[in-house]
Amino acid sequence: MRDLRDMSIERLKAFLEELDEKPFRAKQIFSWIYKGVQSFDEMTNLSKGLREKLKEHACLGKLEILRAQTSKKDGTRKYLFGLGDGNTIESVFMKYKYGNSICLSSQAGCRMGCGFCASGMDGLRRNLTPGEMAGQLLTAERDAGECVNHIVVMGTGEPFDNYDNLLAFIRNIHEKEGAGISLRNITVSTCGLIPGIRDFAKDMKQVNLAVSLHSADSAMRESMMPINKRFPVDELLEACRAYTEETGRRITFEYALVKGKNDTREQIELLAKKLKGMLCHVNLIPLNEVAETGFCGSNRKRAAEIASYLESRGIPATVRRELGSDIQAACGQLRLGQR
Ligand code: SAH
Repeated sequence: MRDLRDMSIERLKAFLEELDEKPFRAKQIFSWIYKGVQSFDEMTNLSKGLREKLKEHACLGKLEILRAQTSKKDGTRKYLFGLGDGNTIESVFMKYKYGNSICLSSQAGCRMGCGFCASGMDGLRRNLTPGEMAGQLLTAERDAGECVNHIVVMGTGEPFDNYDNLLAFIRNIHEKEGAGISLRNITVSTCGLIPGIRDFAKDMKQVNLAVSLHSADSAMRESMMPINKRFPVDELLEACRAYTEETGRRITFEYALVKGKNDTREQIELLAKKLKGMLCHVNLIPLNEVAETGFCGSNRKRAAEIASYLESRGIPATVRRELGSDIQAACGQLRLGQR
């Protein structure tokens, strides 16, 4: 059965033609999907006949809310969703002053194997479809009864390891008949797949890019992130320079602080040296400790010291606010808790 949530408007038009239906229905159906309807019967401006035909030939992939927890501290809401095939994924809905934002997963599991991360511990199960990425947004919006206007693809998975589906998803939610989300309000985070960064600079110039750097020192980075063997940090930074040249966009470097490893004076001086002159911003994240990994986080005081040092060297830096700390909102923790 074909999932209509995976389709672009163009693809929907072709599908309707295959069913001997009028292509103009495509936009109507598309906009119902992004209003979050969960059945064809809710598409009330379609004839009963067409609705029956759609039921016969297609489906609307549904995500089941297996668990939802809301933080008492800040309203952050974390979802564990069940997919049709028994896999699970998670998403986090966050409230900010400027609106609501959601952190989405791009894969069930991950094969990048970063040592400190809970999401990759069981390896990759499979890529998510464009419809399953959109489904996280639509299901959370429907459940929360609120709209989301910022999207970060920073949940489980490596988005550039599922590039084509990521692009299809972004195009669909950006459509004005879809969720109408501005490209500038979308951020995609990568562990540093250089070919993906190059393609993204061409395909999605207006979308924000975040790069998980975590160390500017190749040996240190490799001890945290195996991907550094394939794409060493100096080549990665070169690709980032090319990216900003091509897009004019500022890159966010994520830097999860691990006590006594990448938070030392030498490490941070090297970071400042290598980022000097780049159009970038450093987002310091006191590591969320995941018991199984053995990595310890630096404290917020050390994070603040590092931020002010970087600022003094002319590199914009902030310490990420902690949201949902009382509901295990750190990457992969909820899903891991289900094992
Ligand atoms: N694969 C992509 C996106 C998903 S991970 C990437 O690597 O960027 C999103 C971010 O969370 C990454 O910066 C990742 O390194 C970080 N992260 C993973 N586990 C973490 C932890 N335990 N504490 C803090 N940040 C973590």
